[in-house]
Amino acid sequence: MDRPILKFTPRDIALLRPANEAERLAALHDLKILNTAPETQFDAICRTAQVLFGTPIALISLLDEDRQWFKARCGLSDDGTSRDVAFCNHTIQADAVLVVEDARDDARFSANPLVTGKPGIRFYAGAPLILRSGIRVGSLCIIDTEPRRFTTEQADQLRDLAVVVTANLRVHQDRTEHRRVAATLADTDGALRDAQTRYASLADALPQMVWTVSPRDRVTAYRNASFRAYYGEAGEPVERRLSRNHPDDVDRMSRAWEAAVLKRQALELEGRLRRHDGDYRWHRIVMTPLRRGGEVVEWLGTALDIDHIIAAQNELKETGDLLRLAQEAAEAGIWEWDMRTDVVRLSSMSARMHNLPVPNGQDAFEIPLADWKAQVHPDDLPEVWTEVKRAIADRSTYSCEFRIANPAVPAEPRWMQSFGRMLDDGAGEPARCVGLQIDITDRKASEARIAYVASHDDLTGLPNRTVFHATLERLLAELGNGSGQGALLCLDLDRFKSVNDTLGHHAGDGLLRVVADRLRATVGDDDVIARLGGDEFAIILRGPTGLESARTLAQAVITSIGQPIHLGSQVVTIGASVGIAVAPEHGLEVDILHRHADLALYRAKAAGRNSFQVYTEGMDQALENRNKLEFDMHLAHRKEEFQLHYQPVVAMADGQVRGFEALMRWPHPTRGMVSPAEFIPIAEETGLVVPLGAWALEQACSFAASWPIEARIAVNVSAVQFQQPGLEAAVRHALAVSGLAADRLELEITESLMIQDSEAVVACLHRLRSIGVRIALDDFGTGYSSLSYLRRFPFDKIKIDRSFVREIDDPDAQVIVRAVVSIGERLGTAITAEGVETEDQLALVRQTGCTEVQGFLFGKPMPAEQALAFMQEQIPRKAA
Ligand code: C2E
Ligand code: CA
Ligand code: CA
Repeated sequence: MDRPILKFTPRDIALLRPANEAERLAALHDLKILNTAPETQFDAICRTAQVLFGTPIALISLLDEDRQWFKARCGLSDDGTSRDVAFCNHTIQADAVLVVEDARDDARFSANPLVTGKPGIRFYAGAPLILRSGIRVGSLCIIDTEPRRFTTEQADQLRDLAVVVTANLRVHQDRTEHRRVAATLADTDGALRDAQTRYASLADALPQMVWTVSPRDRVTAYRNASFRAYYGEAGEPVERRLSRNHPDDVDRMSRAWEAAVLKRQALELEGRLRRHDGDYRWHRIVMTPLRRGGEVVEWLGTALDIDHIIAAQNELKETGDLLRLAQEAAEAGIWEWDMRTDVVRLSSMSARMHNLPVPNGQDAFEIPLADWKAQVHPDDLPEVWTEVKRAIADRSTYSCEFRIANPAVPAEPRWMQSFGRMLDDGAGEPARCVGLQIDITDRKASEARIAYVASHDDLTGLPNRTVFHATLERLLAELGNGSGQGALLCLDLDRFKSVNDTLGHHAGDGLLRVVADRLRATVGDDDVIARLGGDEFAIILRGPTGLESARTLAQAVITSIGQPIHLGSQVVTIGASVGIAVAPEHGLEVDILHRHADLALYRAKAAGRNSFQVYTEGMDQALENRNKLEFDMHLAHRKEEFQLHYQPVVAMADGQVRGFEALMRWPHPTRGMVSPAEFIPIAEETGLVVPLGAWALEQACSFAASWPIEARIAVNVSAVQFQQPGLEAAVRHALAVSGLAADRLELEITESLMIQDSEAVVACLHRLRSIGVRIALDDFGTGYSSLSYLRRFPFDKIKIDRSFVREIDDPDAQVIVRAVVSIGERLGTAITAEGVETEDQLALVRQTGCTEVQGFLFGKPMPAEQALAFMQEQIPRKAA
């Protein structure tokens, strides 16, 4: 109790802190052992010390900044105390073991709560844990609640154990450090993996193939999704994959790869890679070497599919090639007009077309726009320029044709066709015009030829039906729009067919040319003459006085064409019939006006040749009637409804019947008796006259063969029957079938047959005459050049036309008839006067010297039975 008590205050403790406290604390903290979980090696040392020294308490205490913390403890539940009460503060002051045999007797500890209170420390021995020189981080200590003696030997043992603790502390530190490094490493690994995952998904999202190749084995290591999709999943050496590429690309690609590997340089090329399905696709391939420390550790490859681009390029190139080819084949020239400078750039071909000299070695030529324009034919320039301006305004293309000067043949400028396209400057302003130009001179010439051939009649050079139609259509459209008059004249040559058939086509062609020339000479320049075919012509007349001009012209045309025509050695005379329709009165449509003019023409022909008729409304009906008649005629012929009537021909001298003329009759069911003057022309047009004529021959001959008298039978033969072969046969057949003597048959032919002046006709007449048939010239005096026929063929009879007999009281008519009679007398030809109706006429006719007469005065045409009766009457008279 009397013992002085030295109490250590916290300040004292603070003073006890070593000089290198900061370094010491840093070292302690570096151990990373504070607050860690108990560890077997420290616990084991603790227990060893407890057992070795037989103390209830053993501790491994680490002295932190303001506490002591027990890494291991035996016999104590607390894991530490505040620093100020710690015995350790003293222990760490020196390398030696601190021994306190009785704390109550030690001034440093007697007041220490751990001594005065729990756990009631009396004995304490602590060995410092020396990490390195001067750095003591804590202690290994043994504590007893009873005072103890502690030998040096024991102290050494405790110090040895402390060294083991320190060693374990270092192990702990190393392990922690290792773990830290490992942890750091682990962290780094994770980040790397993250990055790789990111890059991989990025690469997988790329449309191009991405892969890596190890330079050692050259096998692909990494392959992105596109790569796998293209090649499949399996990795393989570059070389093998390369060898499968497009045969045309393999060598080039392999060489490029080997060179890149050798030089360790990036490679970039295009080639067709073979997909797993065998498809080749163009790719742009880039191989980049990845280096580490100068060594290539990996090749990074990318391949972008450019198949569609290559395809487009190829297509473009093909198009380009085609265009070039087309240009060459078409001999097209190219030109370009820069609208900002007005300079026209011509390719060598274009320049040649423009007769511009292209300097040697140059393939283009530049001229100012004004010079280019000067080359274009002045008549064509306005149209060209209008078209160009339109194209500029529309920003579109244009095509035009124009002529350019031809220095070689100035009279024949060359034709060009030009195609152009406007190009803008990107801001919508026209900047350039580019185009092609082709020399179409030849085409134009052939077009013109074709157009001429297509629009003109070869033979006469007159416009043809096509032009006629178009011209008339134009004229009618104009007339329909306003005032003015026009007329259509349809023209048909009379007896042309006979000329053509008997004199031959060559003569017919010559005749048509003469007619065309006469028409040209007659018709005004403004009017259009066309040949519609055969001997049909048309004249389109325009003028203020439609009908009057048309009448005047029609008459002029008829007169002109009626003039004798010289065809080589022959002279022929033909006539023309004209039908007139006037516009707008008779129609404003081509077809209608044409039909009306045709109707008028038909009427003109029917009314007698060499005349014209103007269309009237009744003509439509007339045509309808005619068509109906034609139809009925065919029917009547099949049903054998035609009949023959017979008119007696008597001798002037004694009034005796010399014969009968067979005249056809058609008793029509509704029209009554139709006159042959009406139906024979139609039968001639339709050709029905041929079988009808043959029938008449047979019928007449058979009838004549049955007569009681040896009189003659006269049968009318149409010119059309001579155009057909077979008239001779029909005659022979009629004679054979009837048994009639040939000299009792008389064929009556008309001037219209003779007008053909054909040797074939004359020859045929001679042949007929040679078998005994007699030939009579009918209707004498109605045509032209009548007397000349008499010299061409020795007719057996001439029948003077009724029109003379009608006017026989006219001295002129008497003179003509007398002249004919005297010619007949000289030639030994009988002369018959037709149409004698009165005794007066008979008396006058008798004075002219006619040998026979025919007419109502003696007998009208009568049916066969009456004719027979007429003969019976004559027989007694004759006998008488
Ligand atoms: P054509 O050969 O001149 O015949 C005479 C015409 O004058 C007949 O008219 C006859 O009836 C008529 N005629 C006779 N005497 C008189 C008279 O005194 N006064 C008047 N006014 N007329 C008289 P048709 O029978 O009407 O025959 C007209 C024409 O038809 C014929 O004229 C003939 O060219 C033609 N024709 C008649 N039958 C045939 C035939 O079988 N074949 C051919 N190809 N033509 C025929
Ligand atoms: Ca007759
Ligand atoms: Ca007659």
